[in-house]
Amino acid sequence: MTNRILKERLDALGLTPQEQLVPVIPSGLASIFLLLVMLLTGLSLKLGDLNYLALICYSVANILFLTHFHFVLIPSPQLHPTHVWTFAIVQVVGSALIVGFLPKGMDNYIGGLMILLCITASIIADRKPASLILGGFTLVLLIRNLQFLTEIDNWARLLGATLVAAVVNEAIHQYKTLATRNISRLRIVNDFSRKISSSLETEQVLNLLSATIPNALSADSYFFGLAEGNEIRLSLLYDDGEYYDNVRTTMDGTLSGWVIRNKKELFLPDLRRNIDLTGVELVIVGNGRNSLSWMGVPIDGIHVQGVMAFASYRPNAFNHSDLELMRNLAMHAALALDNTFHHAEVEKQSQLDSLTGVYNHGYFLNLLKKLTEEACFKRRPLSLIMLDVDYFKQYNDTYGHLAGDEILTALCKTIRRHIKHTDIVGRWGGEEFVIALPGASGKQAQRVAQRIHESMATLKIKSMRKSIPAPTLSQGIAQFPDEADETMKLVDLADRRLYIAKDRGRNQIEPAASHWDKLIS
Ligand code: GH3
Ligand code: MG
Ligand code: MG
Repeated sequence: MTNRILKERLDALGLTPQEQLVPVIPSGLASIFLLLVMLLTGLSLKLGDLNYLALICYSVANILFLTHFHFVLIPSPQLHPTHVWTFAIVQVVGSALIVGFLPKGMDNYIGGLMILLCITASIIADRKPASLILGGFTLVLLIRNLQFLTEIDNWARLLGATLVAAVVNEAIHQYKTLATRNISRLRIVNDFSRKISSSLETEQVLNLLSATIPNALSADSYFFGLAEGNEIRLSLLYDDGEYYDNVRTTMDGTLSGWVIRNKKELFLPDLRRNIDLTGVELVIVGNGRNSLSWMGVPIDGIHVQGVMAFASYRPNAFNHSDLELMRNLAMHAALALDNTFHHAEVEKQSQLDSLTGVYNHGYFLNLLKKLTEEACFKRRPLSLIMLDVDYFKQYNDTYGHLAGDEILTALCKTIRRHIKHTDIVGRWGGEEFVIALPGASGKQAQRVAQRIHESMATLKIKSMRKSIPAPTLSQGIAQFPDEADETMKLVDLADRRLYIAKDRGRNQIEPAASHWDKLIS
């Protein structure tokens, strides 16, 4: 294990070096205590001088070594994997050296020490240094007891400690793996929620989801679908290594539809078993291969309803912790999608005039600037119609302000009926409107203005149950770039022409149609 991996593992568990000390305190103290008892027991026995000396040297040196290792090295940020390996090697070599100087009855101390040292090693590192201690100590004890191993009892006695150490080693490893996985999943959710909270566009949310899901769990296919009427639009569909675009599936009779309609998750570990959901049958999307396990979580936002589903070609591919993780991701995704919805709504509202629904002055002008640049680039004309309701003050005074409002709304609807979807309409202010017609010559704009003029003449609205006539319009037209080569000059020319129309008696279009024939020639 490299230093980086050891550090990553500590990071994954979220432990600081100080916190790393806490779980090894019991095994550290117990091994020091065991060495003390071993020393005292040895000293109370009748041993030769050399044996005494070896026992004292080993016990004292090892007590100092273990104290330093557990209480100085482990809590220090300098802990390196080589320290753990050195610890394991020193202990195995030490046990091999001392065991020959001790009476056979004291082997149990060596066995006990092995268990405690294994615990320390598996807590701070992975299984490998612990396995070295386990193997080394067992080998030392086996060699020493070779002549007694003809009886099964002796095997059992000797391997008992090895078995305990192996089981503890494995249990610690499994727990650490589980904790690491859960922590890494929590990090995935946290990371996702942090990034997604600043996403203001649906596309961004989907990109984040598609980057997060493969790290979070392994599924052969997954999709993210949003409800649209009686259909589900699968915005993100991954199946067996491929992404699919713009797939739609029905809400009726599908597992996803069930999840969306019932706002409940579905966890189906084996699709070969009967699915007891009324009206649901399996609909296959993606590459057409049948999945055997499936889970789906609802996206339950205020404005957005949908489903996040995962499938595998294997049965029992997911567990409940996968479901929990997806539930969390779906909850954050729902919040983020509601946010994007709000943002889009607010942005749209800030561009529109609240009464008529056409663009407001500022936004129209921005768009017009872009359209004139585009017209320049594409070397094609753009025409502008400015129109103003005649004697509107008087109209309001006669029929009331509400009738005036209705006329303005009806006028905008009339304008829309006569223009292309690429043309734009804006409210310049009060009862003055402006229409930009990209690609249209002044002559073509003249025809549009004429049609609006004629429609207005026949328009009637109801006020106080009485049908009232619509007011007339005055209109001014200018063509870019032939008559005005800048956006504001174009606006100004159309505006001046509108006032010429007013001066000439209103209810007319300026310039007259013949002007455009002259412009062409
Ligand atoms: P002209 O033919 O010279 O344009 O005369 P006019 O009366 O239309 O022009 P004027 O600028 O004197 O008056 C514009 C009127 O438009 C005054 C204002 O009350 C009315 N108006 C502006 N915005 C609205 C609106 O949102 N709703 C209603 N009902 N009236 C509006
Ligand atoms: Mg007016
Ligand atoms: Mg006006």
